[in-house]
Amino acid sequence: MPTKKIDPINLTQCEDWEGNNIAFKCPHCDKVFIISEIVHKGERECPNCGKSSGKVKGGRKSGGNASLEW
Ligand SMILES: [Zn+2]
Repeated sequence: MPTKKIDPINLTQCEDWEGNNIAFKCPHCDKVFIISEIVHKGERECPNCGKSSGKVKGGRKSGGNASLEW
């Protein structure tokens, strides 16, 4: 399963990251979804197809980590 660490200073057109929340466009079904460290406890699967997921821990500007799997 491909994985990718999100680069906090070089977001792609399919990613966003503000504070400890990330957004990602699922490569399987094109659903855009957010993953929040607080609301989703830092991990969430694509709510449409379940084939991708994202993780976030910490803030974009404070040394946090975020990664995607699909
Ligand atoms: Zn999906």
